[in-house]
Amino acid sequence: MVRRNTSFVPEKSFIADCLQNPKFHLCKGDVTDPYSLERLMEQIHPHEFYNCAAQSHVHESWEYPIATVDATAKGVLHCLEVIRKVVPACRFVQFSSSELFGMAKECPQNENTPFYPRSPYGVSKLFGHWMTVNYRESYDLFACNAILFNMESPRRGPAFVTQKIAQGVARIVTQLELGEQPTPLVLGNLDARRDWNDARRSIRTVVKMLEQNEPEDYVIGSGRTHSVREFVLAAFDTAQIDPSKYGGLVMIDPQFKRPAEVPLLCADPRKAMKELGYEPHNQAFELIVAEMVEAAMRNHDCGLLRP
Ligand code: GDP
Repeated sequence: MVRRNTSFVPEKSFIADCLQNPKFHLCKGDVTDPYSLERLMEQIHPHEFYNCAAQSHVHESWEYPIATVDATAKGVLHCLEVIRKVVPACRFVQFSSSELFGMAKECPQNENTPFYPRSPYGVSKLFGHWMTVNYRESYDLFACNAILFNMESPRRGPAFVTQKIAQGVARIVTQLELGEQPTPLVLGNLDARRDWNDARRSIRTVVKMLEQNEPEDYVIGSGRTHSVREFVLAAFDTAQIDPSKYGGLVMIDPQFKRPAEVPLLCADPRKAMKELGYEPHNQAFELIVAEMVEAAMRNHDCGLLRP
């Protein structure tokens, strides 16, 4: 399901390859408009419903708190209500978030760790999370939460720090190859630590959640944590650039710092490992950095990757 949008052209977007699959159909709908959901549910009668819809950028959620609540919090309630009313046998999974843990009370974080969200985004996700639990308990719906830690792939949007770094490093490689002055990477807090996980591996596990006998909530992450600084260094390493040789390749701008930060996230995914057969990759971080930087360099047509 995609929202009405005048600038999003699916054929030219990051899902262009999916459109080649004859089993893949895009429908128009919007979680902020419950009537559009109702029409779709009546038309399709789905067996499974994956709610990934959200205003998903944490920093932007301070600038647009109301719009964030509309999509990220109330949007979940609209989905649950329409399922309850139109397709009560449909299995539902809410894309919950490690941002629920926020100023985490313990490390690593599992399904029993108390929540302490630190942004309008985190608070909105908390609403969606508990509403999903409540509809499961109140109406006996097959509704569950996937508590997902940061999911990464070359499809990641450019405003997220991983893709910003990957594309920034690719740009620097091109500039150095052309003998131009490199434009530095301009970032915020380099000390924040995240559990960056491979998006495909996470999603395969979410699919398994809906194949279980009972609806339950699961933490899904790699179980390893790295700082933004480590991501930057690993990205330069992948591009075979020694940043200390140039100086000034990384700058800090307070505009990219957040009013309240989530300093440390790290998943304890043992429940998903035990019950869903989930196997976190022990080199998840290294693989993600390499894959994202190499994809960004291909897009920048960098010489290093040419045969
Ligand atoms: P998030 O974990 O969902 O907030 O994903 P992001 O990729 O947006 O941010 C991950 C971490 O990187 C946060 O702790 C940010 O404060 C930190 N960070 C540091 N510099 C930047 C930046 O320039 N952009 C973004 N988006 N995050 C940054």
